[in-house]
Amino acid sequence: MALRAGVRRRNQRQSDDWHKTPCPAHVDPRLYQQFVDLVKIIDDENVLLGVIPERTNGLLGDYHPNPNGQGPRIWLVRCGGGERYGLEGVLAVKNCRFELITLVHEYGHHRSHVDGTRPAIIDEVVKAWQANGAIPWEHAILNIEQEHRAWDLARRTLTRLGFTEWAAFNMRQAEGIGAHCAYLRAGKRIGELLDGS
Ligand SMILES: [Zn+2]
Repeated sequence: MALRAGVRRRNQRQSDDWHKTPCPAHVDPRLYQQFVDLVKIIDDENVLLGVIPERTNGLLGDYHPNPNGQGPRIWLVRCGGGERYGLEGVLAVKNCRFELITLVHEYGHHRSHVDGTRPAIIDEVVKAWQANGAIPWEHAILNIEQEHRAWDLARRTLTRLGFTEWAAFNMRQAEGIGAHCAYLRAGKRIGELLDGS
């Protein structure tokens, strides 16, 4: 369905009680409540949410402020499932700790966009990087700075939600920043580094 630019769609829900979806048996109820509270915050801010299957590129989640004229969107990668776009579907977590940390990091990107600290050029940088794997060094730095910003904002949000598993969070942050650095340094970037540029 085509929509006018600027028109926002709400996340689908089967009822207004979507947030009362019972905690899956395999999930820690405290973490699940934090996940539900986070989904509620994101939904209240009119950010569209979707769950997508695992990709081969190692992507765990993604954020774009306006990919198709319907406002901001967060994608959460969940292994072993299809695409899901309803709030009840988003709440059907597999590894709640993992998905909570991914989701709050992507929400950190959104908060950064809303408070004006996310450089507008980031989306172009990511597109160029995905297309040919090489971007100017200054753009790589912008990207890494943005990652740190999103993790800092994620930490603040999780603190408000009562999260306490900071060792897991810190590990994911280090892995995330490390993965971005590795990608950005790949290929031509190594040669430029060795040349001292
Ligand atoms: Zn990120």
